[in-house]
Amino acid sequence: MEKITNNIRQVLEKYHVKFLHFVDISDLPEETIQAFPTAVLFGLPLPADFIRTINNNTPIRYNMFDLLEERMKRLADFVAAYLTFEGYKATSQSDEEQLLKQTYNETIFRSRLPHKTLALRAGLGWIGKNDLCNTNHYGCAISMCSILTDAPFKTVKCEPAPPKCGKCTACADVCPTAAISGKCWQMGVDRNELINPDKCILCLKCMAVCPFTKAKLRNR
Ligand code: SF4
Ligand code: SF4
Repeated sequence: MEKITNNIRQVLEKYHVKFLHFVDISDLPEETIQAFPTAVLFGLPLPADFIRTINNNTPIRYNMFDLLEERMKRLADFVAAYLTFEGYKATSQSDEEQLLKQTYNETIFRSRLPHKTLALRAGLGWIGKNDLCNTNHYGCAISMCSILTDAPFKTVKCEPAPPKCGKCTACADVCPTAAISGKCWQMGVDRNELINPDKCILCLKCMAVCPFTKAKLRNR
């Protein structure tokens, strides 16, 4: 698998992907993993200027988040196709593929296996009150996507890290639609207890305002 792993890494790095993890999901419920024992998760941080623009309330000329999300999805499609070419089963977790396979419910904005669940298992970070994965390297201003596969990669499976929000309520305070309840994540807490997806207008303010995101921006 070393050659295949390196090939994937090289392609992703050409598109500025900064993290790549192979995650053991074999113990999750069958309906969640669809017979795939492994997930490939990758992504990158959003540009610092873009985050500052959101925090400064400057009108944005184009949405860098949407552009990078699109790039991550197409890369996931590409990696899934490459693994299939190499003789393995693989499915991209891009929105389009999930809709096709009915593993994403558009009405309630719910995926059977969210990228952030994989991110927790990969040891990438923790879930904040804004229901985003707050990564140890980039805060929560990231874009990521994933692939499910039976390719025998060397995998990791980390225990979910506890949230570090403490008494902070910055994301809930800044949310223009009061979509964030202010409740702290812990194992077993449903996403809807943290945020109301029907109210979310994807303004990204809760991502940009997070002190962990801001602290990481200063180091970049
Ligand atoms: S993206 Fe905007 S509307 Fe949605 S939860 Fe975050 S701050 Fe609220
Ligand atoms: S802004 Fe504060 S409460 Fe919200 S996710 Fe970040 S640390 Fe947690």
